[in-house]
Amino acid sequence: MLKWLPIPLCLFLLLSGFALAQNIGDDKDNAPRPVKLVPPPPPGPVYIRCGSLFSGKSDQLESNMVIVVERDRIRQVGRLSPPAGAQVIDLANLTCLPGMVESHTHVFLQGDRKAGQYDAQLLKQSVAYRTIEATTAAHAALDWGFTTIRDLETEGAGYADVDVRNAINGMLIWGPRMQVVGRAMDVTGSYPLQPAYAWDVTVPIGVETVDGVEGARKAVREQLSHGIDWVKIYADRGGRIHDNLLDTIPTFTLDELRAIVDETHRERRRVAAHATGLMGVHNAVEAGVDTIEHGNYIAPEDMKTMVAKGIWFVPTPYVAEYDARWRAERAGTQPQESPGLKIEEETFRRALQAGVKIAFGTDVGAFEWDMSPARQLVTMVRWGMTPAQALRAATIRGAELMQMQNDIGTLEAGRYADIIAVQGNPLSDISVMQKIAFVMKGGVVFRK
Ligand SMILES: [Zn+2]
Repeated sequence: MLKWLPIPLCLFLLLSGFALAQNIGDDKDNAPRPVKLVPPPPPGPVYIRCGSLFSGKSDQLESNMVIVVERDRIRQVGRLSPPAGAQVIDLANLTCLPGMVESHTHVFLQGDRKAGQYDAQLLKQSVAYRTIEATTAAHAALDWGFTTIRDLETEGAGYADVDVRNAINGMLIWGPRMQVVGRAMDVTGSYPLQPAYAWDVTVPIGVETVDGVEGARKAVREQLSHGIDWVKIYADRGGRIHDNLLDTIPTFTLDELRAIVDETHRERRRVAAHATGLMGVHNAVEAGVDTIEHGNYIAPEDMKTMVAKGIWFVPTPYVAEYDARWRAERAGTQPQESPGLKIEEETFRRALQAGVKIAFGTDVGAFEWDMSPARQLVTMVRWGMTPAQALRAATIRGAELMQMQNDIGTLEAGRYADIIAVQGNPLSDISVMQKIAFVMKGGVVFRK
């Protein structure tokens, strides 16, 4: 084509190409400079006076404690007096805790349980619009006191979660620390919207479709190259209840699952498995995934394997209660305790007894972000956890699951200054965790 252009135009194109190459060089003054909504932490030490404090290291509250924050980290926690003229944040009538950790969120979903909600987001909203909504969901997470989240797939929005995470890290927007999974994986024919529409209508699918051992390895490599922190797979779908257990349809073969786990671990990343019932959980555990999400029913033998292999359990009981509630609202009746919920509770109690590592995660996004995910702490206490156990699941245990326990999850010297405060005593009334009065992330006050 070039030979048909007049010589001056060729020269112009050549020179403008050269100028463009110069412009995208690494000259710092010419680099894009976006507006950052998050200020840097104050340079001098800040003294936070806490009426009570749950450090995450013991089951007790400590009274009249002061947290000394220097830039984005905690320098000291103790009974000390701020020096004269020091910068003091007075939370003397509040209880301070480590910022909470949510191990199973979906910032790219704004509700998916009610008819048509999920399809509308994939069919009627652009990825750009959904990403804007995701930033407001991330803002909400921080507002509810969650300073760190693991976001378990974008449901059709590609790797836009990587961008949200990076924008938060770059302090462009407010939001929690994030670990993300991008697209997630399921097998052909298994995941919405594919099975729900006419066979001759092409519809988007909420995950990457992956088949076969070689396909699985390639998908892991491709997904990791886009900057995700975890690989997420769907190990089962559907399900029916019989013999007091939930029996689901496994998706991937054991060989496919093993290939995904092997490839991910080789790249020093980890695998989160959506697994709700008998064979889904069994195959995921056998393949050696790192976390079981939902786990509505887990067989006793598989629980033993989870303990032996150190596999995490992230139960999501609130979303089932939410389903029961809105179904009842629509029918004008009282929420019924479903047989499914009974199985879920029994599994949760067995996991507690068996010593399975449990972290707090709710699947928020499936239910709307305008209600606090911390409401699930109430369910977990009702199902047998002590309030301190529930708080640890939502702080240090979540930090361990994310391998961030040296940075977050407790209030002690050296950790990030991710600090929240509530009115009242969460060890006597866990529901107070739904009303957050103060949030600091990385030494910057977000809510006061
Ligand atoms: Zn989920």
